[in-house]
Amino acid sequence: MKYRGESTKAVHVGNTIDHKMVTRSKTMPIYETSVFTYDSLEQLDDYLLGNKNNYMYSRLGNPNGRALEKLVATLEMGEDAAVVSSGMAAISTALIAMLSAGDHLIVSKEAYGGTLSLVNKELSRLGISCSLVDINDEVNLINHIRPNTKAILTEITSNPLLTIANIPLISKISKQFGLLLMVDNTFMTPILYKPLLDGADMVIHSTTKYINGHSDVTGGIIVSNEERIAKCKRVLANLGTSINPLECWLTYRGAKTLSLRMKQHSSNAIKLAEYLETHKKIKKVFYPGVPSHKQYTLANDMFKKGYGGMLSFAMEDDLSLVDRMIKNFNMVKLAPSLAGLSTTISHPTKTSHRGFTESELKNIGISHGTIRVSVGIEDFEDIREDFHRTLESL
Ligand SMILES: *Cc1c(COP(=O)(O)O)cnc(C)c1O
Repeated sequence: MKYRGESTKAVHVGNTIDHKMVTRSKTMPIYETSVFTYDSLEQLDDYLLGNKNNYMYSRLGNPNGRALEKLVATLEMGEDAAVVSSGMAAISTALIAMLSAGDHLIVSKEAYGGTLSLVNKELSRLGISCSLVDINDEVNLINHIRPNTKAILTEITSNPLLTIANIPLISKISKQFGLLLMVDNTFMTPILYKPLLDGADMVIHSTTKYINGHSDVTGGIIVSNEERIAKCKRVLANLGTSINPLECWLTYRGAKTLSLRMKQHSSNAIKLAEYLETHKKIKKVFYPGVPSHKQYTLANDMFKKGYGGMLSFAMEDDLSLVDRMIKNFNMVKLAPSLAGLSTTISHPTKTSHRGFTESELKNIGISHGTIRVSVGIEDFEDIREDFHRTLESL
C-alpha cells in the first residue's frame, strides 16, 4: 500500500521490516513495544487460549522478559518464572500472590531492610501478620508457627554478617507443617546454590544484583512451579509490577556470563577474606568460605562451587577511621548496593542499618566499624593492593 500523508508514513514505514527477513538475528532483538499486532482473530484467540509464544501487551508479557524467565527458571531448576520490575516487586508480588488477609508469615529477622519494611508497614495493613525470627533456631522457629501460618521467607546468607540459613533444615520444618518456603537467593545465585533442590518452594531474586551483574538495571524475578507462577503473573498484571523490554534484554545479556562471574567473585572473595584475616587493623572477617566462619561446615555442605562475592569485616568502632579508609581507597568505591563487576564497599550503620539503636546494633553484632565488601571480578592483585595500601595508611 502506498501512503499519501507524511503522518501516515511516519507511523507505518519500516514497521514490518522483520516480517519477511531471510536472515535471523544471532542475538535477541529488543522488543521495545507496548503492544503486539495480529493478522486475524484466530491469532488473537491463539494468544487468549494460552499459547506462550504469542504476545499481546507488554505488561502481560514480552519476548525479552520471556527469554530471561526461561534462562533463570532453567538455572534454578524450576518449572517457570515471572520477571518483575525490581527485587522488591518480586517479593511483594510473590507474597501477595501466596497470602491473603488473616494469614501469618514468618520472616528471618536478618532479612533485607526493604523486605522487613514491606511486611511491617504494608502487609500488616492488609491483614497479613508477620513474625521476625532467628531462622536457624529450630525450636524458636517451630514455636512461632501458628494455625494460620502459611509461609516462611528467608535469604540464604544474611546482610551484612553472612549468617547462613540452613535451607535443608528449614525446608524439613516447612514441609512438616505444610508451609510454603520462599527463599531470596540474590546473594548466592543459582550458580552457587539452588534452593529448590533442597526443598524450597519459591525462589526470588533481585536481578539488579548478580543476575544482571553490571550495575545498570533494576529488576527482579520469581521462580517456582507453573501453578504458582501463573498466580504471580496474575498479581503482577493486576499490580502492574511489570518490567520493560530493554531492562530484560540487558539482564538477559548480563546473565549469560553469570557462571564466569560467580567463579571470579568467589575466587577473589576467598583470597580477600584470607588476606584481611592476617591484617592487624582487621578485628574479624565474616565470610562463609573461611574456617573462622561460625557455620563453615554448613557452608561446605550447601555451597559446592564457591561461597560468593560478599564478605564483611570489622575494624575499630570508629567512624573517623572508616571515613579515612573510604577516602584513601583508589579503586574501591563506597556504593550502597552490591554484585557489580567492580569491588565496592558499603557501610551498614550509615545505610541498611541506619535506623537501628546502639543496643540493637550490639545485639546483632554490627558496629560503626563493620564494613561490607562486594568483591568484584578485577584481578585479585589489584584488589589486594588497594586494600593493603589503604589499611597501611590508617
Ligand atoms: C537488593 C536486594 C533486594 C531488593 O532488590 P531491589 O532490586 O533493590 O528492589 C532484595 N533482597 C536482597 C537480598 C537484596 O540484596
